[in-house]
Amino acid sequence: MTKIVSIIVPVYNEEAGIAVFDAALRAVAGRLAPEFTFECIYCNDGSTDATSKSIDVLKKNVLSIHEIEFSRRFGKEAAISAGLASATGQCAIVIDSDLEHPVELISEFIARWKRGVEVVIGVRKRPKTGFIRSVCSSLFVWVLHFFGDTRIMPGATDFRLLDRKVIDVFNTLSEHDRMFRVLIDWLGFKREEVYFEQGIRKNGVSRYSFNALFRLAVSALLSHSLLPLRMAGLLGICITFISIALSLFMIIDKYILNNAGNYNFSGPALLAVLNMFLVGIVLCSIGILSLYSASIKREVSNRPLYVIRKK
Ligand code: UDP
Ligand code: MG
Repeated sequence: MTKIVSIIVPVYNEEAGIAVFDAALRAVAGRLAPEFTFECIYCNDGSTDATSKSIDVLKKNVLSIHEIEFSRRFGKEAAISAGLASATGQCAIVIDSDLEHPVELISEFIARWKRGVEVVIGVRKRPKTGFIRSVCSSLFVWVLHFFGDTRIMPGATDFRLLDRKVIDVFNTLSEHDRMFRVLIDWLGFKREEVYFEQGIRKNGVSRYSFNALFRLAVSALLSHSLLPLRMAGLLGICITFISIALSLFMIIDKYILNNAGNYNFSGPALLAVLNMFLVGIVLCSIGILSLYSASIKREVSNRPLYVIRKK
């Protein structure tokens, strides 16, 4: 029996590149037929150029092609989520349309899936070009490692194959602050990596501005890490303890040992320590409030308590 593979392609202003991408995809689909048939879902993220028209032209092809068109730009993460929600295949592959993700690797992804792998992850062999972008991307992975509850691999991309089981669980996630690849890593399942040499963007430049990338990183960090929230509390505890120790030392030296250490602590010095103590208390209170907001955040994002692979 033929199996359906859904190809999810987020597109934003890609009128010029779509035809080339589609030709490459059709070549791969031809090689994998008749064991696999492909449905290609273009998720048009509110493009302002003729992307939609380019997709209409493709609909005359043998490949089964669908388009989901957003009313405005909601972002790549939303586009991927919309694609996965309407995928009907036994597995789905998320891929960029700019040919930076090699389309030929789809056969390798499917071969791994046939062997029972549930999540196949495309990992870049080399960092992304552009010094600032590659530094920022490494910094993001490091910060998420340090502060976050989810481990992500440097170089791991959105180019992934997901088994139907994974798609079904992903579709139940309802949080708004989301980053596809971090959520998939959070879900677990049997995973394998496929390393690839990144292709060169065929048309135009990256659709992400530095601002958009920064916002995405902050939103991923907020949804996968509670440590920044707890930091105020930890800092408060440290400051309170240091100020208590300091004030005890000053009081004992000044009033009990009658200035035996010859430190001559002045009144303002005592006041400064008192001030430090109060700052510590305020930070501790913020820490307690943060714990409650962290708990509210967990409840609101409504992530499943656990994910079952098989019963
Ligand atoms: N994309 C999208 N919405 C956006 C930004 C990008 O749907 O807000 C699509 C884009 O058309 C492309 C894929 O996501 O198919 C990857 O985008 P891009 O190549 O600009 O990102 P980069 O490779 O620089 O990370
Ligand atoms: Mg790209």
